[in-house]
Amino acid sequence: MRHISSDVVVVGAGPAGSLAARTAAENGVHVLLLEEHPKVGLPVFCAEGLSLKGIEDAGLEPKPPIVCQEILKARVYAPDKNYVDLTSSGWKGYTLNRDAFDSALAEKAVMAGVELRTSTKVTDVIREGDEIVGVRALDDDGSLEVKSKVVIGADGHASIVRIRSGFLRWFPDVTPCAQFRLGGLELENPEINECYIGRKIAPGGYAWVFPKSSEIANVGVGVRRYNDGPSIDYLRKFVDSDPRFRDAEILLVNGGLCPTSGTIDRIVDNGVMLVGDAAGQLIPLTGAGIHLAVMAGKMAGEVAAEAVEEGDASAEKLQRYVHRFDDIWGKPITDSRKIVEMLDKFEDADLNTLASILSSDDILNIANGTNVGRTLAKLVTRAPRGIIRLMQAYLR
Ligand SMILES: Cc1cc2nc3c(=O)[nH]c(=O)nc-3n(C[C@H](O)[C@H](O)[C@H](O)COP(=O)(O)OP(=O)(O)OC[C@H]3O[C@@H](n4cnc5c(N)ncnc54)[C@H](O)[C@@H]3O)c2cc1C
Repeated sequence: MRHISSDVVVVGAGPAGSLAARTAAENGVHVLLLEEHPKVGLPVFCAEGLSLKGIEDAGLEPKPPIVCQEILKARVYAPDKNYVDLTSSGWKGYTLNRDAFDSALAEKAVMAGVELRTSTKVTDVIREGDEIVGVRALDDDGSLEVKSKVVIGADGHASIVRIRSGFLRWFPDVTPCAQFRLGGLELENPEINECYIGRKIAPGGYAWVFPKSSEIANVGVGVRRYNDGPSIDYLRKFVDSDPRFRDAEILLVNGGLCPTSGTIDRIVDNGVMLVGDAAGQLIPLTGAGIHLAVMAGKMAGEVAAEAVEEGDASAEKLQRYVHRFDDIWGKPITDSRKIVEMLDKFEDADLNTLASILSSDDILNIANGTNVGRTLAKLVTRAPRGIIRLMQAYLR
């Protein structure tokens, strides 16, 4: 067994981990970033959509190879195939090359002084009394013990740091997703991200077509009530139903799991913090988590450095990170989760009605978890009684 130490150890070099590591290093402490895979960013489990703001907040520029397609709007299809176009002035998004994005973030962390170790899988945390004081890991040379003042678990939805530190073991709700990267397409509008809702298409979730160019797109389905069948079955049905995909070539099969129940109740303890998917920091309705992972990573890295400087990594001190995160993202996440639960009650016919009375701004607010209360209150003035009844629990 080899023994090393660092002020801060970050587990997982996804967006949350690289931003946490970089920010802590920029604030003057020594940081070790451990990634289980040999190459940061691979494999990719993502539809690769991100706003320009998300890219900028990560400290990157929207240039190839980080991005491959500019996105100008999202088109949401109701079950009856009527659609609403979503855009707002000044908004711009991109389809990323997620491997290049993640790898650029890790590079920036290294440039800030972070020590990155790939092919290093964390297997446990080290506990002394009621404090987490490091992690155990396996790399190509065998076992490794890393002692640290703060551990940041940025190791995704199946976080070993979360499980072994005594936090909630698993999320109350998750959305399993299946995705094909399809090639050989001739998309007319590659600058539009398409989303399809409806119980038949994707119960409790949605199907998406996120173009990477006019020839290539990420086509996927997330299905929350997976008892109805696995998401891959819904994906095959969705792809078969669209003539644009008839001659497509499947370039990649991936997918993954989105924790869609909202941030778990406790995400810091003595000597340890959770960030990104590990903490459930994702917008439940859309499954968008990259921007939140970036922002949470920055905040956690800042607070970890403060804790090291002040010689106090107690849960109470680390709670500052939770306050900073919740001040900005707490309400959008909880409101978005309420919308998910509300929409569970909607049959396809109700969704058609809802889509016909919602404006583009209303849908954007609902999708992003912003101004949700006001948007629903406004809806009551023009929604049919049946829809108001379904919204009732949320309006109270
Ligand atoms: C199918 C699908 C599509 C999605 N599409 C989008 C989208 O279009 N836009 C969007 O914003 N969000 C999307 N998301 C969500 C988004 O991918 C996540 O929210 C985001 O990646 C979270 O970042 P993270 O850094 O917290 O975790 P991750 O990106 O999961 O990174 C975790 C890192 O930790 C590493 N790791 C795990 N365990 C260990 C261990 N024991 N030891 C060492 N390293 C470890 C992993 O290898 C990985 O590199 C999608 C999710 C899925 C599943």
